[in-house]
Amino acid sequence: MLRPSHRYAQWITLRGRGLRALLVQPRWGAGGLVRQERSQVAHIEADEFKLLMDAVADAVLVCDGQEHILHLNKAAELLLGWTREELAGQPFSVLVPQRIRTWGGVPLTQHLLDRNASRQGRPVLVPLRHRNGPEVVLEAVIGSTKAREHERIVLTLRHIPEVPDATTEPLEQGLCLYPWQHAHTGLAHMPTLAERLYQLIFEHAPLGLFHFGNPPFIIACNDCFAEILGSTRQRLLGLNLLTLRDTRLMDCVRATLLGKHARYEGHYTSVTTGKVTPVRVHFAPFFDEQERVVGGVGIVEDITSQHRMEEERATQLALASTLLRTAPIGMAFFDTRLRFVHINDALATATGQPPEAHLGRSLPAMLGSGGLHLEQFLRHVLETGQPLERLELSAQELGLAGPWLYWTLSIYPVRAVDGRILGIGSVVENTTGTKLAEQERSRLLREAQEAVRVRDDFLTIASHELKTPLTPLSLRLATLERKLERGEPVDPASLHHARQHLTRLTTLINDLLDTSRIESGGLALHPQPTRLDVLIEHVIHVTETLHDARDRITFHLPVRPIEVLGDPYRLEQVISNLLENALKYSPDGGTIRVSLEARGDVVLMTVSDPGIGIPSDQQQHLFERYFRARNVSTHAYGGLGLGLYICRDIVARHGGSIWVESEVGRGSTFYVALPTLQASRALTALTPEPRVH
Ligand code: ADP
Repeated sequence: MLRPSHRYAQWITLRGRGLRALLVQPRWGAGGLVRQERSQVAHIEADEFKLLMDAVADAVLVCDGQEHILHLNKAAELLLGWTREELAGQPFSVLVPQRIRTWGGVPLTQHLLDRNASRQGRPVLVPLRHRNGPEVVLEAVIGSTKAREHERIVLTLRHIPEVPDATTEPLEQGLCLYPWQHAHTGLAHMPTLAERLYQLIFEHAPLGLFHFGNPPFIIACNDCFAEILGSTRQRLLGLNLLTLRDTRLMDCVRATLLGKHARYEGHYTSVTTGKVTPVRVHFAPFFDEQERVVGGVGIVEDITSQHRMEEERATQLALASTLLRTAPIGMAFFDTRLRFVHINDALATATGQPPEAHLGRSLPAMLGSGGLHLEQFLRHVLETGQPLERLELSAQELGLAGPWLYWTLSIYPVRAVDGRILGIGSVVENTTGTKLAEQERSRLLREAQEAVRVRDDFLTIASHELKTPLTPLSLRLATLERKLERGEPVDPASLHHARQHLTRLTTLINDLLDTSRIESGGLALHPQPTRLDVLIEHVIHVTETLHDARDRITFHLPVRPIEVLGDPYRLEQVISNLLENALKYSPDGGTIRVSLEARGDVVLMTVSDPGIGIPSDQQQHLFERYFRARNVSTHAYGGLGLGLYICRDIVARHGGSIWVESEVGRGSTFYVALPTLQASRALTALTPEPRVH
C-alpha cells in the first residue's frame, strides 16, 4: 500500500494493526476526529491520534470515499499553507489545479489510485494549490482502505528534493505548469490578453524564466531555463531553491522572499548532470494584493559566451599589454587631448621617467620645448586623420641634452569601429645604432674611395717619379759613352749629375721597399751607440754635395758629443729625408737650420726651413703613407709621400717621436726626439727583450 521506505509507512509498521483499524473505523465529523465507542481501538483518544499524526514528519492528508478531506496533520498544514479547520469537510479537488482535476472523467485521486497497481506504491509528482495561490509540486504516495462504507484515502506528501528520486514518476500532464494557470482553480478560464501576452513572452523569451512560491519551490519554468541548467522542466519543477548547493544563490532567494531584488552571477552546477553553466540571475519578489511576498521570479541569462568573450578579451589584453611592455621599440598612446594614456617601458626608459609619471600628462609637460615640437605632429594626425610615418628625429632637434641619439617616429590615428578617432598611437624606434652604423659605413666608403684614389694617384706619381731621373740619366750616360768612344775628355759635372739622378732613383726604390717592409712587419734595426752630432754633420755634407747646395745648411755642433743607441743607417735616412724635404720645399732658397741638443734623457734635433710651409689642417696627416699636402703639386714638387711615413716608423722604433710646426708661406720646423744613449741603456736593462731589433 505505502512504500516501505516511506517514513509514514515506518510509523504505521510501528503502530501495527491498531492504526490501520483507526483509519478504517472511526467516523470523523467536520471538526475533526470523533471517538467511536464501538471502535476496536477505543482506547486511542482523538487527541492522541492528532498528536500521533502531527508527530509524523511528512504531510498526511486523509479523505473519505467521496474525496472529502477529513484530516491533515501539522506537516500538511505547513506544506500547503491551509489550516485543518479551513480544509476539513472540503472536497479534495479544492487543492487540485483545475486542469488536472479529472483524468478521462475520473477524479485525480481515483486516477492515482488506479495507477497505484502499476506504480507499486512508488510516489508520483503532483502539483497542489498552496493557500497563497502558487502551486507546489509535491511527491505524493496514495493509499486507500478500499472498504466500501468507511473507505479512507490517505495521501502522504513531501516536497521533493533537488534530485527527484528515480522511482518518482512525474504526473505528465499535471507538471506542464504555467504561471498564468496558477490562480485559476475554478471553472475553465479564458486567458486575458495580458495573460496571453505573458504566455508568449514566457515561452519565447531568449532568457530562462522561472517562478517560485513561498516556500521557494519552483512552480513554473520555461524550456530556455531548463536548457540553460542542462536539465528538464519535469526535473526542475518542484525544486526547492533552498536545497541548492550554492549558498550565494540561496541568499538571493531568501532576499527575494524578504521582498528585495537580488542579483546572482556565478557558475551553476547541475546536480543531476554535473553541467556547469556561467549564469546571471535577476531575482524579483512577487507580492499579493496585501503586499505579502508570495514568491518570486527569476530571470536567467546564460553568460557562457559573454564569459568566453570576456576571457578572450582578457587574454588579448594580457597579450597586448605584455607585447607593449616588452617590445624593444617605444610605444605610446594619447587621448584626443593629447595626454598620455599609455606608454611602454622602452619609451619611458628613454625619457628617463617611469611609465606612471607620464599618465595624464602632455608631451610639453614631459619634454619641454622638444615636446611642443612633437605635439605639433600629433595634432596634425588628429586633425587630418592621416598617419605620419617614419619621421626622423634627433635628441638635439628635441632640445634634449646628452649624447647624440636618433629616433624614427610614426604616428597613427587610433579609430573606433565606426571610424571615430579615439586617440593617437605612436611608435618610436631608436635608430641611433643604425644611424651611427650608417655614418660609419659612409666614412669607411669615403676612406675606401680615398684609398683607391690615393692608390691611383700613387701609381701615376710613382711611374712619373721613377721615369723623371731615368730619362736624363740615360741621356747623360749616352753622351758619356759617345765621348769615351771618341776619346774626348769627360766632364766631371756630367758624371755628378748622372750620379744625382741615380741617387734619386735609388732613394725612390728604397722608399718603396722600406714602405713594403714596414707594412709587412717592420724594418730591421741594428742599434749601436751612435754619435748623432757626427752623423748629422756627415749627412749635411752629403746632401749639400748631392744637391749643389753648399753652405745652405747651418749646423752648430753641440759642445759635448751626443750619443744615442740607434741604427746609424736608418738614422741617416731620417736626417737625410728631413734635409732633402727642407731643400725641396724651399724653392726660393734660404738657409736650412739644423740644431741638436740633449735635454735630460732626450736628444732633440730640429730641421727648420723658410719654405712653403704646410696648411694647418693637413699637418696631422703628414706622417701617413702616400700623404702629400695640397699645396704641393706633383708637377712642381716630385715625391711619393713616403719619406715622412718611413721617418716616423724609424723614430718610433728607436723609442722616440717626430712632429712638425709649420705655417704656410713661412716655413716649417721638424722635430725629432730620441732617448739618450744612457736612457736607452737604462731602459734596455729594465726590459728583458730588446725594444728595437
Ligand atoms: P714627398 O716629399 O716625397 O712628397 P714626404 O713623406 O717626404 O713625401 O713628405 C710628405 C709631404 O709633406 C710632402 O709631400 C709635403 O707636402 C709635406 N712636406 C714635407 N716636408 C716639408 C717641408 N719641409 N715643407 C713643406 N712641406 C713639407
